[in-house]
Amino acid sequence: MNVHDSEKISGVLTEEGYSQAESIKDSDLVIFNTCSIRQKAEQKFFSDLGRIKALKRKRPDLKIAVAGCIAQQMGKGIFRRAPYVDFVFGPQNIHRIIDLVQGKSSGIANDDNPEVADTDLPVLRKKEGRAWVSIMYGCNNFCSYCIVPYTRGMERSRPSGKILKEIKGLSEEGFREVTLLGQNVNSYMSDMNFAGLLKGINSISGIERIRFVTSHPRDLSGELISAIAMLDKVCDHIHLPLQSGSDRILRLMNRGYTVLEYCRKVDSLRKSIPGISITTDIITGFPGEKEDDHMMTIKALKDIEFDGTFAFKFSPRQGTKAAAMDSQVDDNVKSVRLTEILQLQDCITIKLNKNLENSIQEVLVEGLSDTDKDTVTGRTRSNKIVNFKGNGDLKDKVLNVKILLARKHSLDGEIL
Ligand code: SF4
Repeated sequence: MNVHDSEKISGVLTEEGYSQAESIKDSDLVIFNTCSIRQKAEQKFFSDLGRIKALKRKRPDLKIAVAGCIAQQMGKGIFRRAPYVDFVFGPQNIHRIIDLVQGKSSGIANDDNPEVADTDLPVLRKKEGRAWVSIMYGCNNFCSYCIVPYTRGMERSRPSGKILKEIKGLSEEGFREVTLLGQNVNSYMSDMNFAGLLKGINSISGIERIRFVTSHPRDLSGELISAIAMLDKVCDHIHLPLQSGSDRILRLMNRGYTVLEYCRKVDSLRKSIPGISITTDIITGFPGEKEDDHMMTIKALKDIEFDGTFAFKFSPRQGTKAAAMDSQVDDNVKSVRLTEILQLQDCITIKLNKNLENSIQEVLVEGLSDTDKDTVTGRTRSNKIVNFKGNGDLKDKVLNVKILLARKHSLDGEIL
């Protein structure tokens, strides 16, 4: 989502006649587009911001801006911590950037701006065959560990007509794949629900693949599962964050489902869409998580067998309920639990990937591999990375590839 926000910031500035500098040293304006979902990202941002202070001292005319969730959350606090910052603006205020750059408005824009869902901001996308498209903003769920409802505001869905028009335009520009973005796409609602929106996009010619993130398990309806199963362009992959295998911890997280309910949805997905790949998020060391709760998460991972898991140590975000909870878990304990989860998931991933050896997969080529100029890299419909011999001319082509070897994070193949 942040990357797409950066594309919007670039789009608005480019439309106004600004262009991207080759390096920070050549630029007149430096924008940090920040993420506050985890403490590590926040620490990294402040250390990067500290490093640019020397450049500002040498060139006082250089403008420094902070965007994104940290800007939204801290607002004026950024100026107190880094007085050399010129202006800050949150994700709901990207359309105000020109006024801020040109000094026509005060140095801060971080209100929760509901009009943003209706605003068609220009987007400067990299021409990589794949495009991100925001379909909604904000979130109403208030999971107890999450800062998003505070930084991105309440849920606002974009009108379906605008989304369909944007995607039609993308197909005319040559984009083959779209990824629909929202904090909880399953609760999309305008004049149609998310299943209806998928149907509309599926009928746009030129678009070959449709992906979406992120899905809240509670809102994954039977209607939506049927739509994913029926619509040929909707890819066979879903990211469905479980977060914990313990019902007690899920309640403390305010997630709104039990492990059993979650497993039933996974069963339904696998029955309706054979071969679907399912990935998840796990937070380990949530306040009050005991060894028993951790073992329930381990059991859930073994039972469900996700294709991939993004697991993180709980990181308290100031202003959330979980940050103020008693019984914070010791960091060493979190590290041990995280290692166990990651090691288990590695075994499961390689086992599932091995099942794909000798199968034929439809791969959309993304481009040359970073490490070998005679190899191209692409993704299967189930979002697995496949590397195989080929040249740059294959970029954006959809090819049938035979899988020869499964690795932990990718597959090796050959064009049929
Ligand atoms: S659903 Fe996702 S974005 Fe919304 S509060 Fe929960 S974790 Fe945050």
